[in-house]
Amino acid sequence: MTYTFEPPAPVALPVVGQQATFPARRVYCVGRNYAEHAREMGFTGREPPFFFLKPADAIVTVSDGATGAMPYPPLTQNLHHEIELVVAIGKGGKNVAAADAMGHIFGYAVGLDMTRRDLQLAQRDAGRPWDIGKGFDHSAPMGPITPAAQAPGIESAAIWVKVNDRVRQQSRVSSLIWRIAEIIEHISAAWELQPGDLIMTGTPEGVGPVAQGDLMVGGIDGLGELRVKVV
Ligand code: MN
Repeated sequence: MTYTFEPPAPVALPVVGQQATFPARRVYCVGRNYAEHAREMGFTGREPPFFFLKPADAIVTVSDGATGAMPYPPLTQNLHHEIELVVAIGKGGKNVAAADAMGHIFGYAVGLDMTRRDLQLAQRDAGRPWDIGKGFDHSAPMGPITPAAQAPGIESAAIWVKVNDRVRQQSRVSSLIWRIAEIIEHISAAWELQPGDLIMTGTPEGVGPVAQGDLMVGGIDGLGELRVKVV
């Protein structure tokens, strides 16, 4: 097989304790999945879950102990951090029942759903797609994947992010409106999940702006820290 140009290698996330890396296929994201964040964005209640995607090549991989670099993106004056639990799918499937969903998970990572908030809200308010606000280059910094067997307490873990050592977001994964298994049930009803798919499960309250030079340090108990500098 020849190509008209050399296709890029897949973005691949490091895996804790393994040489092999995890090749990313798609990045699914859940909107407004913590009640207090839904409220701060002007919504209330448990609406049905909804989803958007980021391109897999928007992932910025950050190794354990390293500080990743995220270029400040163009066209925005309001770049926001959203700290999120990332679920890595190891076994694909369609119409996966919540009761079976955990068996499809390879592992978990800490991620940032970076958002050009001014553009996202303008598109939202005009009834247009969110892509320009959410799916831009370098918009998905992620740390290494911890295999699920090594993250037994993930569903009640603390999740937090600091910017320049000040806590901005702090919650627990147990505050998710739609739990991990329910998210997988809903996504797999709409798309066939495949190994390599990543799910950003939503962010808790406290989202806010970052500027060039800021250091974001996010963490989830059991998964270590994700360090990203805005450059
Ligand atoms: Mn988000």
